[in-house]
Amino acid sequence: MAEHRIVVPAVGGSSPLIHPIFLSMKTTDNNLYLGFDIGASSVKWGYGNCQQGLLCFESVIISDKSLSGLQNIFTKIINKVDSKIGVNNIKGIGIGTPGTIERESGKLLGVNPNLQFWTGLSPAILVDPKLNLPISYDNDANVMCLGEASLLAEDLDVVGITIGSGIGSGYVRKGSVFHGGHGFAMELGHITVVAEGELCNCGRKGCLEAYASIEGIKSRAMRHLHYDDALAWNLQDILSRARDDLHLQGYIREGERLLGKSLANLCLILDPDVILLGGGGTEGGLYSTQRIDAILSESLPGINRARTSLRSATLGNQAGVLGAIVLAERKIV
Ligand SMILES: [Zn+2]
Repeated sequence: MAEHRIVVPAVGGSSPLIHPIFLSMKTTDNNLYLGFDIGASSVKWGYGNCQQGLLCFESVIISDKSLSGLQNIFTKIINKVDSKIGVNNIKGIGIGTPGTIERESGKLLGVNPNLQFWTGLSPAILVDPKLNLPISYDNDANVMCLGEASLLAEDLDVVGITIGSGIGSGYVRKGSVFHGGHGFAMELGHITVVAEGELCNCGRKGCLEAYASIEGIKSRAMRHLHYDDALAWNLQDILSRARDDLHLQGYIREGERLLGKSLANLCLILDPDVILLGGGGTEGGLYSTQRIDAILSESLPGINRARTSLRSATLGNQAGVLGAIVLAERKIV
């Protein structure tokens, strides 16, 4: 093990670190916490705390998509943290993971199409129990929303939406993630927006995700517009083809409109202070925050519209790691 002295390394790379001042956090804790954000193709990680923000942020590609492959990545990251700052300076670990976590068992339910082995397990299984550290974990969209909400006043109700290969959504009520009775709350991607509509990855029909996610648009382009290679497209491929294809453009606008209408419905149910839009689809220009804002204005009673603001998320791909650190710190402090 490395010595106890904390040396925060200078971090290179292209993305500047987030050093937020957490006005909403009342803690004076200066201990460090380690956060992980498991994605479909990479594990993002970093350490920091609510006072100093993110002090280190890195990403590791998942080349071996198996449980032992993921455990190896975690072990290597923890060894790296040990050599940088001493793992005994870490007071807790937070993990954001794709999938639904059942509250009662603490285990992942359902099958993640990108990490098919990652089901029926507790995410804590990724960390060597010999470290004897408290481990907190939650759904990745909840953790992203917690990270973003941590930059805002703690008494706000904040909805966070990520538009990417799927649609993730989380709801942080006055500083705490809302899980519902069983851990299944906030599955906005799988609300029905078209009766008997397009087939969704979840096996049901007409879900928002089948229309408004990047994979949903690609799937529609393949099935109805005869783009045989559509499933291999990235976001820029979609946008460049849509410039010359009015039908594909129409699918994007339809996705945006259904997303806006769904958010309006969500406002009527939850009455949030803020909705934050994030994820690769939002950052990459698939949808426009201004147009979705206009859809909210035309769809909501004035009393709601005046009190809920729609904004772009600000932390980018660091939101999940920061949220995992906040999750870990809140368990301890
Ligand atoms: Zn679905």
